[in-house]
Amino acid sequence: MDLKSPFVISIVDLPRQEGAMREVRTGFNAPSDVGVAMYQVAEGSPLGVDLTLQSVSEGVLVDGYVSAHAHGQCSRCLIDIDEDMNERISELVFYPERAAALEDEGDEEAEDFFLIENDRIDLEPIIRDALVLSMPLQPLCQADCEGLCPVCGERWLDLPEDHEHLEEASDFSVLDALAAKLRAAEEGE
Ligand SMILES: [Zn+2]
Ligand SMILES: [Zn+2]
Repeated sequence: MDLKSPFVISIVDLPRQEGAMREVRTGFNAPSDVGVAMYQVAEGSPLGVDLTLQSVSEGVLVDGYVSAHAHGQCSRCLIDIDEDMNERISELVFYPERAAALEDEGDEEAEDFFLIENDRIDLEPIIRDALVLSMPLQPLCQADCEGLCPVCGERWLDLPEDHEHLEEASDFSVLDALAAKLRAAEEGE
């Protein structure tokens, strides 16, 4: 645990007695690599957390929401997508001795538990999981996006309903149109 990380919070003022609670409402700058291939939260962009920490017998229950702004591309038409995320967090962070005891009892997941160290909790992996696990692997600009016209590479959503090309598309023109769109998207970054 990196004690200098802004995501590492002290819980010395949270009584260990079961049911004791503390609110954490704060903001962070997003760490790097919060994202999937076509959908990311930009490094340094604002994150907000609104959490309740509650002492339970095994550790501290971290419960609430994280908000962030995500940027991505539609997996069908490649247009930019900007969305606000607000994702549920509900994680049990274990006292190390409780996690060790569960591991001794044969709990195979115990080695992956989040742990309290020196009365501190690192919120970064918890926030990262909540955001990344909610991200779409195939983001869409809208649910019924029909992608691109295979001949001219324009978005169907931008084309008139009667749009058509007189000659049948060959396989090559389909690939050419897609390749041109991908190049344009890369150059636009
Ligand atoms: Zn789309
Ligand atoms: Zn077309």
